[in-house]
Amino acid sequence: MSQLLSPRPDPASSPPPASASPRLAPGAFLAFARELATRKRRGVLLQVNLNRSDRLSALAQEPRARLAIAEAMRRVESILRPSDRYALASMDEIWVMLVDLPGAALAELASRTLRDSLTRQTHIETDDGPAIVQMRPAIGGAWRHPDAGQDPMAVLAAAADACQRAEQLEERILILPAQSDVELVNRGMLERELRLALHANELDVHFQPQVALASGRCTGAEALVRWTRHDGTSVSPALIASICEERGLMTQLTQFVLNTALRNLMTWSAQGIDAHVSINLSAVTLADPAFPTLVGHALSTWGIPADRLTLELTESAVVKHERSALQFMREIRDHGCGLALDDFGTGYSSFAYLRQFPLTELKIDQSFVRNLHTDASDRRIVNALIDLAHTFDMQALAEGVEDAPTARMLHELGCDLAQGYHYGRAMAAPDFASWWRGFSAVPAETESAAIP
Ligand code: C2E
Ligand code: MG
Ligand code: MG
Repeated sequence: MSQLLSPRPDPASSPPPASASPRLAPGAFLAFARELATRKRRGVLLQVNLNRSDRLSALAQEPRARLAIAEAMRRVESILRPSDRYALASMDEIWVMLVDLPGAALAELASRTLRDSLTRQTHIETDDGPAIVQMRPAIGGAWRHPDAGQDPMAVLAAAADACQRAEQLEERILILPAQSDVELVNRGMLERELRLALHANELDVHFQPQVALASGRCTGAEALVRWTRHDGTSVSPALIASICEERGLMTQLTQFVLNTALRNLMTWSAQGIDAHVSINLSAVTLADPAFPTLVGHALSTWGIPADRLTLELTESAVVKHERSALQFMREIRDHGCGLALDDFGTGYSSFAYLRQFPLTELKIDQSFVRNLHTDASDRRIVNALIDLAHTFDMQALAEGVEDAPTARMLHELGCDLAQGYHYGRAMAAPDFASWWRGFSAVPAETESAAIP
C-alpha cells in the first residue's frame, strides 16, 4: 500500500506530530485525529473489527490471544505510510487513521489490502503446541472532509456505524460515500429531525420472528426500530441508536419501542396470537436506575405478563457499566422478564458474564452462524456456545439463520431458538400477525414452514 498510496505533499500544512511508533494509545489517537481536523487535513478513519476465531476467551488461552493480536498489529503496521497512525481500541478492534488520501476510492483500496492481509491465517507457537488463528475482519471507514466538523468522536461514531454495516456485506468493507459525509456533517440536523419524529410518533417498530427449533413453532419476535424520513429515505437502526446515545435521546427511543411492542402484544393476544417479544437496550439504559421500574409500569399499563418480555443487552454495554449492570439485571429479573445477551461472540466474550449475571438467553452472533455448514471451526464455536448456554441454564438462540441446512444443523447441535431471513425479515406489526397465522397453519417441524 505504501507504494500505491504515497502521501501527497501538502505545503499548506505542517506534518502530523512526529511519533517514534505508528501505534498510539486510544486517547492519543483521538488527539491526533483532532489535530488533523484543526489543520484541515484530509483523513479517513477506519474501524477494523478483527473477528478473531479465538476471540472467545472461553476458547482461547491468554498468551495465544496476545500473540494473535501482536501479529494483527504487525500486519497493520506493514501497510501504513509514515504519516498514518493506529490504535488498539480493544482486543478485537483497531482504529486506523490514513492521512491525506486524495479520494475515497483510495481508502477503499487501502482497506482491501488491509482486509486481505488480516484474513491470512496466523500460525502461532504456544507452549501447548502450534495453533491457527483466523480473522474475519470487517472494515468501516469515515471519510472526513477538510471542512467538516472537528469532533473526532463523531468521525469515530460514523466509522463504527460503517463497520457494523460492513459486517453484513460480502466484501466486509464500507467506506462512507460523499453523501454520508453530508450525513456526518449534518448529524446535528438529523438529530433535530429524529427528536421531532420521536415526539410526533413517526418512528416505527418492526418484528422479526423467532422460532423454536424443536417444535418448529414461532415463539415470538424481536422488536427492531425503523425510521423513514419525510423524503422517503430510511436511516439504519444502528445510526438511530448511535445518535440517540450521543444526544441523550435513548430513554425516549427505548420507551417508544417498549410501549409499541407491548401495545402490539396486547392486540395480538386479543387475536389469539400468544407471542413473546424481545427489545434491544443500549449501554446508557443499563446505567439508568429508573428503567426497571419503568418496565414494570409499562407491563401493567398494557396488561402483559412479564415473562412475555425479554430485554437484550450487548456485552459492550455490560462492560461499560459493569458495576451497575448486576443490580439492573436483578431488578429486571425480579419483575419476571427475560434477559438476553445479544451478539454473543462479537466482543471479547467471557465466562465471567455468564456466571455472574442472571441471564436467560444467549444470542449467538450471526457471524458464526452464516457459514455454519461450510466452516468446521464456526461449527465447533457454535456447538461450544450452545453447550455454554445450557451449562448456565440459558436458552441458546442463533441469529442470522438464512437457510434450511443451517436451521437443521442448529437443531442437531441442540440449539433452542433461531431467528433469521430463513423464517422472515422484520415486518410491520399487521404483517407479522398475518405471517404468524400462515406459519402456524403449516405443520410444524417441516422446513417448508419457512418463508424463503
Ligand atoms: P440486533 O439486535 O443484533 O438485531 C439483529 C439484526 O440482524 C437486525 O438488523 C436484523 O434485521 C438483522 N438480521 C436478522 N436476521 C438476519 C439474517 O438472516 N441475515 C442478516 N444478514 N441479517 C439479519 P437491524 O434491524 O438493521 O438492526 C441492527 C441493530 O440495530 C440491532 O442488532 C440492534 O443492535 C440495533 N437496534 C435495532 N433496533 C433497536 C432499538 O430499538 N434500540 C436499540 N438500542 N438498538 C436497536
Ligand atoms: Mg438484538
Ligand atoms: Mg443481535
